Amino acid sequence: MTTLNPQRTIDELKELRALTGIEDGAQRVAFTPVWATARQWLREKLEALPVEIEVDEAGNLWATLRGESTDELLIGGHIDSVPNGGWLDGCLNILAGVEILRRIASEGKPPITIRLVDWADEEGARFGRSLFGSSACSGTMNPDELRHLKDRDGILLSEAIAPFGLNLDTVKESRKQLKNAKAYLELHIEQGPVLESMDLPLGVVLGTCGVERHTIRFTGQAAHSGSTPMDKRRDALGAAAKLSLEIREIAKRHNGVCTVGSVTTKPGIVTSVVAQADMTLDQRHLDANELAAMYKEAQEASHRFAEEEKVGVEWSKLWEIHPIPFHSRLIEMADEAIKEITPVSHRLPSGPLHDAAEVARAGVPTIMLFVQSLYGISHNKIEDTKEEHIAQSVDALDRLTTKTMHWLMDA
Ligand SMILES: [Zn+2]
Repeated sequence: MTTLNPQRTIDELKELRALTGIEDGAQRVAFTPVWATARQWLREKLEALPVEIEVDEAGNLWATLRGESTDELLIGGHIDSVPNGGWLDGCLNILAGVEILRRIASEGKPPITIRLVDWADEEGARFGRSLFGSSACSGTMNPDELRHLKDRDGILLSEAIAPFGLNLDTVKESRKQLKNAKAYLELHIEQGPVLESMDLPLGVVLGTCGVERHTIRFTGQAAHSGSTPMDKRRDALGAAAKLSLEIREIAKRHNGVCTVGSVTTKPGIVTSVVAQADMTLDQRHLDANELAAMYKEAQEASHRFAEEEKVGVEWSKLWEIHPIPFHSRLIEMADEAIKEITPVSHRLPSGPLHDAAEVARAGVPTIMLFVQSLYGISHNKIEDTKEEHIAQSVDALDRLTTKTMHWLMDA
């Protein structure tokens, strides 16, 4: 029997970093040669285990350890990275999963089937479309929306996936992979500062936040900066500036997050009052009612400021997604697993979307664990987590796997 060896996970993460990273960080962008190298390396690790390996129609790699029951417990992650990415995002989940497969396989045939999935193109770094493999598998993808997507060099997504044997017409056939899935577990670095600020290694993810994403256009009047008295101006930027501060108060009131990521102005010259200000607003909350309230309050505030500044205002939706809460029993079990390792567990929502959200949308009971990120930074070469915390996270995922297995057997 092999006991769980979290240090081996740390060593393998470093091995992967050396193989697929450069000085600027990880380069495992999906559907590129470096990604293929990472995948091949992962396959070699898996081939040492009594698992069946396959790649589905969406490019997701599955390793299946058959159990007494055909009911399946899934552990997932993504080996792809953003360009100049970190050494943990996505691949920690995968390599922790490999270590847990080793431990379980060494104990003989498990009572239920355990599968590890490496989702294809979680990051969407090249074509701007995240969660490619998991959304095809969950069924939420509309392949027609992806047909026109091109990378910076003008290569179509459909052309980039073809050498990997993938075709947009058939990607959704990967849905059959979830047929026997009874639970899905994912470990991920937090990619934010919450656990670090609380000095906690591990947290339970309650779900992924719903998102309201809009552009807001304020329309005023261009006027000469020298000849137009202050009280005669219709300054579009005045209203945008007021709103950009107000959304912080809205977020605070509702315990959510709101971000103005961009404001562009026209004519955008030093000698003119701003005639048009286009701003983006991103609002997130785990609770659908709170999210709706934040959206409504931002709209009301925009109209109030437009009136004060004597300008027009128009909203247009960029994107929205409902909150995706994780499974309540799995949240309890994840808490228990963490508390066996460290005295305090913390529950928090995930602002970023993850593959786990897609699996949950497909109706599979889902949970995520977060491990602390140093400086709250990710998608960057300075992304890091203390090695002792990495080891604890592998241990926590392993304990959660055992608890989930028992839960499924009792069900
Ligand atoms: Zn990730």
